[in-house]
Amino acid sequence: MTPELAIAWAELGIPFELLQSRHLTLFTEASELIDVAVSDDGRIWQLIPAAAAAWERMQRAAWQDGVDLQIASAYRASTRQVELIQRKLTAGVLIDDVLQVLAPPGCSEHHTGRAVDIFTPGGPVVTEEFENTPAFTWLNSHAAEFGFSLSFPRDNRYGYVYEPWHWCWEEKNTTK
Ligand SMILES: [Zn+2]
Repeated sequence: MTPELAIAWAELGIPFELLQSRHLTLFTEASELIDVAVSDDGRIWQLIPAAAAAWERMQRAAWQDGVDLQIASAYRASTRQVELIQRKLTAGVLIDDVLQVLAPPGCSEHHTGRAVDIFTPGGPVVTEEFENTPAFTWLNSHAAEFGFSLSFPRDNRYGYVYEPWHWCWEEKNTTK
């Protein structure tokens, strides 16, 4: 853990033993990123080049099947993760509860530039109800062909809530 991260964890009240007790990984921050989407409020979403190419292939294939996949979140720096956690703490949420929905800084797959939070226009955004959408059904059937997998199924070993919207790309043998 870098000194900066250690300070951030201490300031947020995150115990270091969490890495072991929740099987968390400290990820390396993405270095090379390219733009993949712009949200309605002008935020630019980025991924590493290989994940971006896989995302674009997957989005196109889904579109051809009548499913509109859009990005609700992609790369986030660990400094941004600190802000997101602080915002919840300020709103009165206890740190243990915050860490069921947000990874500690350094431990989010979003730092790697390989993870995307996916929604479909008009559907639920970053809520469990996403699992009832045709987009989720499509992803379950096809995402693996493009190297994406669901990171946090129900009762996952990392102690995160079920996140049907969160998919992470990994370099492996893909069929498309
Ligand atoms: Zn996510």
